[in-house]
Amino acid sequence: MAGRILVVDDVATNRIVMKVKLAAACYTVDQAENGASALAAARETRPDLILLDVMMPDMSGLDVCRALKRDPATASIPVVLITALSDRDAKMEGLEAGADDFLTKPVEEVTLLARVRSLLRAQDGVRELQMRDDTVSAFGFAEAASGFEGKDRPGQIALVAPGPRGAVLWKSAIDDRLRAQVRIIPRETALSEATSDASEAPDVFVISADLAQRNEGLRLLSDLRSRPGTRHAATVMILPEGDSERAAIALDLGASDVLHDPFDAKELAIRIGVQLDRKRQSDRMRAGVRAGLEAAITDPLTGLHNRRYALHRMEQMIERNGADLAVMMIDLDFFKTINDQYGHAAGDQVLQQVAHRLRAQLRANDLLARIGGEEFLVVLSDTDHAGAIDCAERLRNAVGGKTFNLARDTLPVKVTASVGLALPGDQGPSPKADMLIRQADAALYGAKAHGRDRVSQVSVTAA
Ligand code: GH3
Ligand code: MG
Ligand code: MG
Repeated sequence: MAGRILVVDDVATNRIVMKVKLAAACYTVDQAENGASALAAARETRPDLILLDVMMPDMSGLDVCRALKRDPATASIPVVLITALSDRDAKMEGLEAGADDFLTKPVEEVTLLARVRSLLRAQDGVRELQMRDDTVSAFGFAEAASGFEGKDRPGQIALVAPGPRGAVLWKSAIDDRLRAQVRIIPRETALSEATSDASEAPDVFVISADLAQRNEGLRLLSDLRSRPGTRHAATVMILPEGDSERAAIALDLGASDVLHDPFDAKELAIRIGVQLDRKRQSDRMRAGVRAGLEAAITDPLTGLHNRRYALHRMEQMIERNGADLAVMMIDLDFFKTINDQYGHAAGDQVLQQVAHRLRAQLRANDLLARIGGEEFLVVLSDTDHAGAIDCAERLRNAVGGKTFNLARDTLPVKVTASVGLALPGDQGPSPKADMLIRQADAALYGAKAHGRDRVSQVSVTAA
């Protein structure tokens, strides 16, 4: 995965050294020699990552970072600050300014490249999700996502440390600084969270690289990343001081961030806070995409599947077991008069109740969709001739056998339905969907012609 990286440093030699390292790893590198041109370049070329020197004559790297994060056009670009001094305050300030990491000169190559890979990967994931979310909104399904739950839930943080003492120290570092529920859990519990529902799982795991055994935390990280319940959780890996080799491995295994022990309590809290925010943002986008997709295949009036989904699903059902299907077209009789007599809103209510009644007659894996104004499509799976006719009669009776009570004080309304039924017959194991629908339509036409409120069947011979 290549990427475009902007290197910002006022010293030409530093830029060149950095460029050589990055170009060797096949990244495209742009350079800027001061804060002002860095901001301009970031806006213009939209790099995937910015490596930013802290000490520059015109503008400090911290100010550049703040300016980048303020501008919506550049706010999502990850920033790594690079400094000559390991000054604690500058480091905290940098992280609080929105930087993703802080590296000290001379920058170790393994650490640098692992960090770059990890940030680019995360960035890629966010962009992909953003694109799907935008697509869903562009198609007008955005409001479906507005009911996203969990946005106000405090963050859930799980700490997995080798002994109780360490974990308690970590916990006290976080407790006063973040609005979050912090739990200390053993490794085994972390794994069982991984198998449960993703909405219940912790948002952030903080894990020591070494637990009862060396590298056990790294193995736990891989496990969490591979399981559905915890795949989207963020992980912060804690490693011994100076262990940059394994820090790089942790990042490559998918850790969202790494931190070396002993660490500053405030730094741990800031880094976890950043991960919590990101996790929440991507949860929101994922929920938006899911709700948008759901809306795209659903008829808003009845909650049934819509035509687009029904045709697709029908093809799938034919592929799986085409010979044992039955297809029905159901159309309400003289429905126009219902609207004319009681109003369109009353007509809508009838359609909703009809949908409900039909659904109640069908099995979970039968398909029911509203494919036209007062027209419904049913595809039964695993059925035979007698079963299909029996079901068609039940559906007809579910509509016409009982009057509809509308909200206003009107008398109960009688509505009947005509049903056209098509069976694959000798069309063989994979009949054509459009052919079956046309036949069901023809049968429906027959039911209408013969007086309505009845089931009519086209028995299919080879088409
Ligand atoms: P037929 O027995 O021949 O099917 O007669 P019909 O009146 O049901 O058939 P027609 O196709 O002439 O009219 C269908 C009516 O269904 C027209 C339209 O007003 C009504 N309709 C279609 N979609 C909706 C809807 O979403 N809500 C309401 N209330 N009515 C709808
Ligand atoms: Mg009709
Ligand atoms: Mg009609």
